[in-house]
Amino acid sequence: MKAPVLLYHKIDLPTPDVKVRGAYTAPRFFEKQLAYLVRNKIRVVTVGELIEHFNQTGSYPERTLAISFDDGWKDNYRNAFPLLKKYGMTATIYVVADCLGRTTNQVVAPGEAAREHMTVDDVHEMAACGIEFGSHTMSHSLLNNTSPDETEKEIVESKSFVEELTQTQCKTIAYPAGFFTEHAKNSARNAGYLAAFSTIYGDDDGDDLFELNRTEILRRDKYMFRFSRKIRSVIVPTL
Ligand SMILES: [Zn+2]
Repeated sequence: MKAPVLLYHKIDLPTPDVKVRGAYTAPRFFEKQLAYLVRNKIRVVTVGELIEHFNQTGSYPERTLAISFDDGWKDNYRNAFPLLKKYGMTATIYVVADCLGRTTNQVVAPGEAAREHMTVDDVHEMAACGIEFGSHTMSHSLLNNTSPDETEKEIVESKSFVEELTQTQCKTIAYPAGFFTEHAKNSARNAGYLAAFSTIYGDDDGDDLFELNRTEILRRDKYMFRFSRKIRSVIVPTL
């Protein structure tokens, strides 16, 4: 099932070594996109709020969506956070526990330079302003490639890690690169998450909260006709 959740990665300009430029949204286009949501009276809530509403009513709230970021990049703090504050919006950031405070090549495409992740202090500052944090596992291992024990560890330990870090419930998880197995879904359910996100690999027609799809906003969505088309397809009722 598709949830009304947008997925971003980096809010920054790509450096020359970058091979996957689609995952970069320039800050000025990100701002245009937030302004579009305000202008069109689309409410932005956290992923946790969205899922709780679904659990209570069986549907998603109208003209409402959540903005999510995967991987916990420093640019989310540096570039996205000031704009979210400016427009009075919240977001949900899926962090990789092992990467916080480090510059690593753990999450970049092969051949790309190491990149800076947000710090524990950044997380605290954003959490104090209402930004929600979710799990993107401990190490960003692809869960279709890990042993059952490793899969469970990645899912269970990262939940405790985020809860310790933010002193609040870690409600949802985003599978690294969107890959999941039945075992990963069961582990997430048993660990006490409310929902788990893929990207495009979930079943669009099913109603399984542990393989929800998001709508990825890519570099090419800097063109507002593309962005608005995606927004219209994602919110309830479809505009
Ligand atoms: Zn990721």
